[in-house]
Amino acid sequence: MTSKKQAAVPPSLSYELYPPATPEAGEAVLRTIDELEATRPDYVSVTYSGTPARRLASIELIGHLTSNTRLRPLAHLCCVGETRASLDLLVRQLVALGVRGLLALRGDLPQDPQAVRGELPFAQSLVELIREVEARHGAALAGGRLAVGVAAYPNRHPESPSFLHDVEVLVSKQRSGADFAITQVYFDPAHYVRLLTAARAAGVTIPIIPGVMPLGNIRRLERLAGMTGVRPDPALLHRLETASGEAERRRIGVRAAAVLARAAFDAGAPGVHLYTFNDHRASIEVIEEIDLPVARTPAAVPA
Ligand code: FAD
Repeated sequence: MTSKKQAAVPPSLSYELYPPATPEAGEAVLRTIDELEATRPDYVSVTYSGTPARRLASIELIGHLTSNTRLRPLAHLCCVGETRASLDLLVRQLVALGVRGLLALRGDLPQDPQAVRGELPFAQSLVELIREVEARHGAALAGGRLAVGVAAYPNRHPESPSFLHDVEVLVSKQRSGADFAITQVYFDPAHYVRLLTAARAAGVTIPIIPGVMPLGNIRRLERLAGMTGVRPDPALLHRLETASGEAERRRIGVRAAAVLARAAFDAGAPGVHLYTFNDHRASIEVIEEIDLPVARTPAAVPA
């Protein structure tokens, strides 16, 4: 890596996977996992959705990771629509599968105002619940402290009154027992630096890991903008729209992601979390592009 401000501990590397929805996608994700395992990530996160079928798919994917690979899963868990009792049970089920790291999230609110919102209003409450479950079951639960991560926002969360409100929320999540944060996607390197600076000034000491997405797919960028409120860089969109084909779009996306990752390391990022969309190629190209050392020791993330 060319960064001047290299951390004393080698940077952490992690990937996000989502549970496959079809048998064909299931085979593809197994290939992706094989390829990613060879890069020796510190952990692999698995996204979560509350619908019964998707929840089962997440649990199956996590079971595959713990039973058949050397990869350490970080299980996403959302509190929206759940009761305290259902979450308590889920935490214990995940730990029984071998999970030692959880990403505590609220999840997106249901569109239907009549839909059940659940007993916990915020991700912060889920962090507290996880710590309560852990305290109640003690060493019998996980044989050690669970690593609990949370989301952080380089750009204002769509429901939030301000970026600084989100920073205060991050302070509260840390106070409730979060060990580290992973950022939402962002497109401007300055936005990670702004978050890091504001969070440190507000008293956040936990690692804030930049979530970086290879940015080569126009449809995905637009869908993501709808979901997160984060608008892609118009210059990048133009380059993608005028690219000659898929291979060139991937190269453009990989380079743009590498720029984000390098800038984050220069600002002192403790690692990088790559949103893979279950496609290993672009993510592996990003880590080759930034020349990330592979002989890493785990940072302050799931042990
Ligand atoms: P919260 O931290 O609860 O924030 C939600 C809103 O409430 C924000 O506007 C915040 O400002 C406000 N708020 C929070 N706490 C307080 C408080 N104490 N007082 C006042 N206001 C408060 N979604 C999925 O469905 N599945 C996934 O697997 C998933 N993985 C994700 C992974 C990452 C790294 C990230 C960044 C997001 C992920 N999401 C996932 C999306 C996430 O669920 C949404 O962004 C959701 O809208 C907010 O989740 P949160 O955990 O940040 O919620």
